[in-house]
Amino acid sequence: MSFTLAIVGRPNVGKSTLFNRLVGKRLALVDDTPGVTRDLREGAARLGDLRFTVIDTAGLEEATDDSLQGRMRRLTERAVDMADICLFMIDARTGVTPTDQVFADILRKRSAHVILAANKAEGAAADAGVIEAYALGLGEPIRMSAEHNEGLNDLYAQLMPLSDAFEAQADSDTPETDVDLDEDGEDLSDAPPVPTRAKPLQVAVVGRPNAGKSTLINKILGEDRLLTGPEAGITRDAISLTTDWAGPDGVAVPMRIFDTAGMRRKAKVQEKLEKLSVSDGLRAVKFAEVVVVLLDAAIPFEQQDLRIADLAEREGRAVVVAVNKWDIEEHKQEKLRELRESFERLLPQLRGAPLVTVSAKTGRGLDRLHTAVMRAYEVWNRRVPTAALNRWLTGMLEQHPPPAPQGKRIKLRYMTQAKTRPPGFVVMCSHPDKMPASYSRYLVNGLRADFDMPGTPIRLHLRSQN
Ligand code: GDP
Ligand code: GDP
Repeated sequence: MSFTLAIVGRPNVGKSTLFNRLVGKRLALVDDTPGVTRDLREGAARLGDLRFTVIDTAGLEEATDDSLQGRMRRLTERAVDMADICLFMIDARTGVTPTDQVFADILRKRSAHVILAANKAEGAAADAGVIEAYALGLGEPIRMSAEHNEGLNDLYAQLMPLSDAFEAQADSDTPETDVDLDEDGEDLSDAPPVPTRAKPLQVAVVGRPNAGKSTLINKILGEDRLLTGPEAGITRDAISLTTDWAGPDGVAVPMRIFDTAGMRRKAKVQEKLEKLSVSDGLRAVKFAEVVVVLLDAAIPFEQQDLRIADLAEREGRAVVVAVNKWDIEEHKQEKLRELRESFERLLPQLRGAPLVTVSAKTGRGLDRLHTAVMRAYEVWNRRVPTAALNRWLTGMLEQHPPPAPQGKRIKLRYMTQAKTRPPGFVVMCSHPDKMPASYSRYLVNGLRADFDMPGTPIRLHLRSQN
């Protein structure tokens, strides 16, 4: 199962150029199927490892009469309704035109997932147009040059998580009919197929020396019968290793795990340990998508743990906190309460991040850890549709109106999600400089709670618009 992407926008912005690039020589059909308009072209597209269907609203001539406007609107609406994701293209050299605004309105109302592309953006002449595109309220524009093959990596980066989501959805929608037995004779018919990803999920395990990082990683590797990658055997000096880590549902997820000081401990640098672990941790965090902060249950939330957790947050990584050596903990319930309390107090910037207890030694809790990692990754990639976001904002403003410094109420006009990995939101408002931090926190906490986004930093940017 894959998804359908519609390329929409006014004539002459470069839609067909992109369409041709995505479809290449694999143009499946130039559509003359009855029932489907001739004005919509459909093709089998390929971008990196993604395979999907692309629709182009070609066949419109630039003109100014009303009938064309109407036709363009109907055509666009049909394309939008057929598609899972819309790529809305504007011409960055021209900037945002009134016709672009008409398209933006249609998309805001009708499309669940909009990707904005400012095309013809090769060269500095397009800078102003790219910036203007933000004001459409459809997220951060991709700087693209369809003609010069630029911006397709960014397009890929936006499509990939959505594609994963559609695949997951399709898997759960499709009933399995074949019964499949593995070598132990176990019925695998309920196991969803192994997802194919562009690259392994990048996970860093960080924490102070002796927290149990090596033990944890070895456990993950040891229990993994699908061990892959030439690095696997050389854990001693390896900085990263790739493996398929199967979760509780049996789905093996390719992961590239970055190890930090744990490995180095075995090298003869005992005295430099503290220093090493921080700089290695830093490097691992920079590479990672998800950071697992591993704590020792006996001495949790030490200074070094706090520093590395804070670093992961500032770098914008998805974070999971794992408390290790849970096997030797006697008063588990009481301890867990204490841990949660310390977590809230000492790492308020990571509010909502999952806290899981594990024993790297016995393997207990590893399934929970797997689930938490996958979920944090999913949330980190989450894109909230603009329409839903603005409905939400209206409610938040009613519930708790923004302050009115010097008698002038700060007006929040609308908001959009400009980024993922981690989620970043832009709010257009009057006097952003006067907005108190407490109100921004109110919005961030609300976003986290109402759109269920634990385990990821959330960025909120205020942009001035009167
Ligand atoms: P459509 O009507 O939106 O499908 O637009 P086309 O794909 O037919 O492109 C319209 C014109 O813009 C053509 O002359 C293209 O060669 C040109 N064009 C497309 N993409 C780019 C680009 O990235 N940069 C520049 N400079 N021109 C482009
Ligand atoms: P690293 O420095 O973070 O890589 O830590 P290691 O993996 O080398 O572990 C440090 C020590 O803690 C070793 O003696 C491990 O056997 C022990 N250890 C690691 N995980 C656990 C666990 O879950 N339970 C217990 N009881 N000991 C553990």
